[in-house]
Parts: sequence; C-alpha cells; structure tokens
Amino acid sequence: MDTQTLLNYDRDHLWHPYTSMKDPLPVYPVESAAGVRIRLMDGRELIDGMASWWSAIHGYSHPVLVQALQEQAARMSHVMFGGLTHGPAVELAKLLVEMAPAGLEKVFLCDSGSVAVEVAMKMAIQYHHATGNPERCRFLTIRSGYHGDTFHAMSVSDPQGGMHHLFAGSLPQYFFADRPECLFSHVWDEGDIASFARLIEQHHKELCAVILEPIVQGAGGMRFYHPEYLRQVRRLCDNFGVLLIVDEIATGFGRSGTLFGCDHAGITPDIMCLGKAITGGTMTLAAVLATAEVGLGVSQGSPGVFMHGPTFMGNPLACHVACASLRLLLESDWQQQVGRIEQLLEEGLAPCRELAQVQDVRVLGAIGVVEMKEPVRMREIQAAFVERGVWVRPFGRLVYVMPPYCIAEEDLQTLTSAIVKVVAGEGQ
Ligand SMILES: *Cc1c(COP(=O)(O)O)cnc(C)c1O
Repeated sequence: MDTQTLLNYDRDHLWHPYTSMKDPLPVYPVESAAGVRIRLMDGRELIDGMASWWSAIHGYSHPVLVQALQEQAARMSHVMFGGLTHGPAVELAKLLVEMAPAGLEKVFLCDSGSVAVEVAMKMAIQYHHATGNPERCRFLTIRSGYHGDTFHAMSVSDPQGGMHHLFAGSLPQYFFADRPECLFSHVWDEGDIASFARLIEQHHKELCAVILEPIVQGAGGMRFYHPEYLRQVRRLCDNFGVLLIVDEIATGFGRSGTLFGCDHAGITPDIMCLGKAITGGTMTLAAVLATAEVGLGVSQGSPGVFMHGPTFMGNPLACHVACASLRLLLESDWQQQVGRIEQLLEEGLAPCRELAQVQDVRVLGAIGVVEMKEPVRMREIQAAFVERGVWVRPFGRLVYVMPPYCIAEEDLQTLTSAIVKVVAGEGQ
C-alpha cells in the first residue's frame, strides 16, 4: 500500500484517540522508531518528546527489549492463567514487590491502565464487603484527576474532562474534593486539605476507598501538588478506615524523579495501579499491587475469591518484556538521567515564561509543561512541531513533554527550543 492509499483508508475506517470519524485531524504515517527518533514514511525523523504517552522510557526498539520479546515469543506467547502459572509472571511479581513501597505484596496482572483502575476499585468494594461493611461501596477522589476511559475509571476522573454530563445516565456518582492548590514547590498550606477532610468526615461510612494520582495529576491538567497533601490523605484514610488507591500508571518507574509518585511523600497505599512504562512501551500490560491485609481481606467469607480474571491475564510475552524493561531501568542510573532532563527542561522552557500567551511553565522530574492561556490550534501546532523535527502532542491548553530517559542533551535542546519557537507563534 502506498502512503496516500494508507492514509485514505485510515481516514475512512480507523478511529484514533478522541477523534472524529467525520472530520479527523491529519495523522502522520510512521515507518519505524528507534532510540528517541520516530521515522515517518517520507523519511523525515522526529525527536520524540512524548515517550508514546509516558511509556517508552528506554526509547524505541531497544535491543534488550526486542531480544526479550523474541525469546519469549519462541518459547510461548500466551497461556491461560487460570490453573496455570509461568516464570515471566512470577519474576515480574517479584520485581514489582521489591520495587514498590514496603507492604505491597499481592500482585494482580491485567491488560491496561483503565482495567487496572477497574480492578483496584473492585478490590476495594470486595474488601469491605468481605469484612462486614457492604454499605461501604462509594469512592472519594480529587478534581482534575484522570484514571482512564472505562466507566468506573471515568466516574472518578475530573467531571469536566471526563464529560460526566454526557454519560450522566450510566455513570455512578462519587465524591470530588477540590483539587490541591498547594503546588509541589510551594510552602505547605494546611487549608489545602480542608475540602478533602470535610468530605471524608461526612461520608466515610459509605466510602470504601479514596483514589487519586500521587503528586502528578496527568491528563486532568498536568499539575504537580504538594507531598504533604498526600501524607494528609493517607492519615485521614487511616483515621476513617478508608482504603487508599494510588494510581501510579503515569508516575510509576521514575518519571517524576522518584521511582513512584508515592515516594515523594514516603507513604504506602493499600492498593497501587501500575501501567504505561511497565513494558518500556513495548506492549500493553498493567498491574495492581495490594497489601496482604487487602488480599487476605478480599479472600474472606463469601465469595472468598476476587471476582476478576481477564483472558490475557499474566500474558507471558508482556511479562517477560516487562521484566527486561524493569531490570534495564534498575541497572541504569535513571535518577541521574531524570535529574539531568529536569534541569535541561527547566533551562530550555524558561523563555516561554516571558510569552504573553503562556500562563505557566512547570517541570518535575522528566516532565515539562507549558500551560497556555488559550487552547492551542491543534492542526497548526502539530504541523509546526513536525516541521521542526520534533514530536510533541499537546491537548487543550497544555503543551507538554515527557521524553524517553535516554534522550541526549542535544536532542533535548532541539526539543525545548522547538517548543519555545512554536509556542511563541501560537495565537498570532
Ligand atoms: C493513562 C492513564 C490511565 C489509563 O491507562 P490506559 O492504559 O490508557 O487504559 C489511568 N490512570 C492514569 C493516571 C493514566 O495516566
């Protein structure tokens, strides 16, 4: 198929994320990707600023991951997890338990981030059901969050971003505390937790869990909040016997400068969701980690088992690649790499602060955000980035990057100077 035929067929038949079937924006055809470069079919190469939505932390086609994939494909791509087990799943569980905050030791492997959120929420409901509190089946979260696109994940995502009004008839109604206003680098303000504290006090008798993203609120606004907020949430959950589910799907595996977002606050959640970077961007896989208390609680009484078991649970191919990716991460000096990216993003994006169309510039770990005053013009801004040889995919008012950790200094400078120039051209 020549490129034009491919693009025409794509346009007529394929849905892309959050895209119209009638009038879709252009898509760019990719031929291959290696390291931090995405190669288009016309031969142009783009420096990748997105790590394919937080996932490709080691860059693309990393030889170690490609080899792991080939090895495992030759041995066994998949086998059902009901009644059977295998090395890749056990080894992955062991790595995750060793890496995660102490106390998280029961591992549920599933298909994607949204499914991990569904699994975590079901676990919390079943825990309270099995331990004699079936009336505790509702959730509390904070505004500006994002937890995925399936129904229960949507129900705890920001009501505006999640389009709750659109799905009002099908979505359960949960509780939303004000979003944290005290940001990562600010001096902690005790008043910031008031809205959350009031809601948990009022409703704890019907709450099974709190769910939130730790420190970094991703697709709900790319905001970085104060670690003390998370510590206060942990304390209040403990006070009221409410479980704490932490959604580390975006933050997991070093992105914010610590291995997990939770580590900024030094807390252990009761349940933790992992995804995105877990296979280094090779394929879809997610995991839900729980404490022994939750695992054993769920398994008490009737039905005595956790009611979830996807067809591709514990997929050996994905698990083996995940093990290779996590070992690669642990053997690298990721902390130094992420620290270096943080510093270069700070320096490189700083000129954006002077621009009238820019509301805010913020950086945490290997995440850089330029928040505009107005929504960007997607078609134009996307083309402008591609013309400058970089891949940046903004949404709404947010122009943001989270490059692979291995990005070279020079490439990162090309990326940030492209952002400064393109952003300067917006709204003119
Ligand atoms: C991306 C994301 C999800 C959803 O993961 P999918 O794999 O896209 O289903 C959930 N929570 C957070 C914080 C995310 O960033």
